[in-house]
Amino acid sequence: MKFYHSYCDIISFLGCAENIDLEKVDAVYPCLANEYYLKLIDTGNLADDPIAKQIIPDSRELNDCDSSYDPLSETEQSPVPGLVHRFVDRAVLLATGRCAVRCRFCFRKRTWTNGGETLPDIDDSGLIKICEYLRGKQEIREVLISGGDPLMLPFERLKKIILELSKLDNIEIIRVGSRIPVVWPQRITTEISDFLGSVPGLWFATHFNHPREVTAESVEACSLLVKAGVPVINQTVLLKGVNDDPTILEDLFRRLIKIRVKPHYLFHVDPVRGVRHFATGIECGLDILRKFRPRLSSLAVPAFAIDLPEGGGKVALQAQYRTADEFRDIFDCKNIIYPDA
Ligand code: SF4
Repeated sequence: MKFYHSYCDIISFLGCAENIDLEKVDAVYPCLANEYYLKLIDTGNLADDPIAKQIIPDSRELNDCDSSYDPLSETEQSPVPGLVHRFVDRAVLLATGRCAVRCRFCFRKRTWTNGGETLPDIDDSGLIKICEYLRGKQEIREVLISGGDPLMLPFERLKKIILELSKLDNIEIIRVGSRIPVVWPQRITTEISDFLGSVPGLWFATHFNHPREVTAESVEACSLLVKAGVPVINQTVLLKGVNDDPTILEDLFRRLIKIRVKPHYLFHVDPVRGVRHFATGIECGLDILRKFRPRLSSLAVPAFAIDLPEGGGKVALQAQYRTADEFRDIFDCKNIIYPDA
């Protein structure tokens, strides 16, 4: 796969006109994309294209100087390098800083900002320390392998991390969090899917944001995982100008359940520096949920969640329905009164 490591290279590949201001953004938050994902862009509509908006810089990224790079306090909640332990029964292993594309809305943008924090690949000694910590915390039952994107590691390294975690008696669930099926689906081979399918308690969490990302190639990648017996779930980030529209999200979620990928979370974008122009406001997400209620199978509806600042954790939000008027609005029919106790 061919990768493009700067705004200028990406624009030249797309054959579009350069915007000199965006080179300044590239100098702070460097661009990265690959040929597969770039080919999904409609170059005739670059400014409004939902794929382009996810990887082409925006001058508003530099306007935000007040927000934190780490509002979720991951750095403070890291007991050993490469591990975040926030919730009682779960921990996040940051396996690598590499990604197949750099998403402009990334909540770990601090790890790829020029001059900022870096996330090295976890080596053997780092892995030993992480496993020692996990062994000493018997209440931890689930490890999310994240990054960066763990599928960017050489397969043998990823395999070693997963096998070492599987040896820990207390770890019942291993969740691999990866955007690879969306941004580099050809990377999912039978060798990888068969291995992942052979690990008891392993789940795969991927990250589709728009129905145009559900291509023949990404369907094939997800099918390999599903056929190998890996449960695949999806998290979507609600992004202004990309997918903040119930019709677009309905289309995405219907396509996903058809290929047996369960929409798990719809996240409101985190208040991270350089990302805030993507924020829709929480009410927008709740409104989308309300519109889904009468139309969409519960299989297709994800939980809408926010991640509280200062390491407060995830909170799933629900649209409220308490009165006859609200019930009527859902189904657009006669007044219905629930016979409450
Ligand atoms: S693939 Fe994930 S970790 Fe990498 S830039 Fe995109 S959102 Fe961030």
